Amino acid sequence: MSFGAGNRPMPQIGERDRVVIAGAGPVGLVAANVLADAGVGVTVLEAEPRLPENLRASTFHPPTLDMLSKFGASRRLIEMGLVAPRLQYRDLAGWRADFDFKLIADLTDHPFRVQCEQYKLNHVLAERLARFSHARLEFSSPVSDVEQSASAVTVSVEGPAGRRTEVASWLIGADGGRSRVREALGIRLEGFTWPERFLVASTPFEFADVIPDLREVSYFADPEEWFFLLRVPGAWRAMFPTRQEEEDAEILSDESIQRRLLRVWKKPGAYEIAHRTLYSVHQRVAETYRKGRVLLAGDAAHLNNPLGGMGMNGGIHDALNLAEKLVRVLCGGADESELDRYERQRRSIALEYVNNITIANKRNLETRDPQEQRRWRETMTHTANDPALAKEYLTRVSMIASLRKAAAIQ
Ligand SMILES: Cc1cc2nc3c(=O)[nH]c(=O)nc-3n(C[C@H](O)[C@H](O)[C@H](O)COP(=O)(O)OP(=O)(O)OC[C@H]3O[C@@H](n4cnc5c(N)ncnc54)[C@H](O)[C@@H]3O)c2cc1C
Repeated sequence: MSFGAGNRPMPQIGERDRVVIAGAGPVGLVAANVLADAGVGVTVLEAEPRLPENLRASTFHPPTLDMLSKFGASRRLIEMGLVAPRLQYRDLAGWRADFDFKLIADLTDHPFRVQCEQYKLNHVLAERLARFSHARLEFSSPVSDVEQSASAVTVSVEGPAGRRTEVASWLIGADGGRSRVREALGIRLEGFTWPERFLVASTPFEFADVIPDLREVSYFADPEEWFFLLRVPGAWRAMFPTRQEEEDAEILSDESIQRRLLRVWKKPGAYEIAHRTLYSVHQRVAETYRKGRVLLAGDAAHLNNPLGGMGMNGGIHDALNLAEKLVRVLCGGADESELDRYERQRRSIALEYVNNITIANKRNLETRDPQEQRRWRETMTHTANDPALAKEYLTRVSMIASLRKAAAIQ
């Protein structure tokens, strides 16, 4: 007998049913907490010596907050982050369309986005996992190879002390975009990589003092160079596309970042730059999410551009869907075909929903065609001004619609 996070006695299933998860990112840690809550023995293998703290996603959508509240994590994210009740599209000429999440207050317990760095969620989830005697989180444990039989998966780990193996009933590959698990299984990540990369620069400068009616999440359409402003505690993060011919050092130089920030707001003097990142942007989905006893989730299964903040959120939705099905297979006597349903439900969302929305977001912000620009602005203005259309729009961009669509897939 072991005890759950609420000190409830839990049925302990056999050690041979242990699930191994590669990767202690948000996806691996959410899946681990669901399994641990159900009394399933779980080992999370993380390549790094500690939880990585690099700045990546920072937007939590309403249904993701609804899901994370079962771990007490939404409350912690709200305390550590910033509540964004509105979303805005605008341009430098003064056009804007505002959406208020209160229109979806009947569909979610969290009618807002929360802006908080994703690594803070990872700490909350890892702390919670540590309370379970049947859960282990092992650092400096990079998965190097995977072999499987009809009844078990053998995972090789290449740690500082040498090579060792872990045997599990199931393996979840939540080891990110460059997933070794996916590679070991020979699963292709199909799609394309955008020719331009995206630059993210943070500054403590208070844009809201100078840009009228600026919301916490603001997408600026511009044919010359679109940008995106997102407020996080103590700073604004600005995201820009870069040109193909620009070299890394040039893009990341103070001069080029100042030039880009001065297009956002032409202020006297230089901006203080708190942080800068340059990264490649992909639209790719794994050709399958399941091979025998191995399942992929999160960035290991799909990558998309960050316009819409759907990468981490979609990954957390995968983790919940998959871990709950694994619990039913291991503890509830459900048939293994339940896990094929995970692929049917979540892969189709990555292909048809997340890909379409994020590609459309990028195209609408960057288009140089004056007719397309006008059409999009008119559509967004009309949508924002009609409560029924605005509600439908918010249901889509907050990913509530994607979860409903997935749930309807048998
Ligand atoms: C700059 C930036 C901004 C972003 N903004 C957003 C946003 O606003 N909203 C959003 O939803 N998404 C956003 N994303 C995407 C988001 O960060 C990812 O979708 C999210 O991190 C995916 O989580 P994950 O757990 O699948 O993978 P990761 O967070 O990448 O975690 C994978 C973990 O696996 C570990 N690992 C790797 N290889 C191995 C191995 N062989 N063995 C064991 N462990 C291994 C890694 O160290 C890591 O800890 C952004 C990404 C970037 C880069």
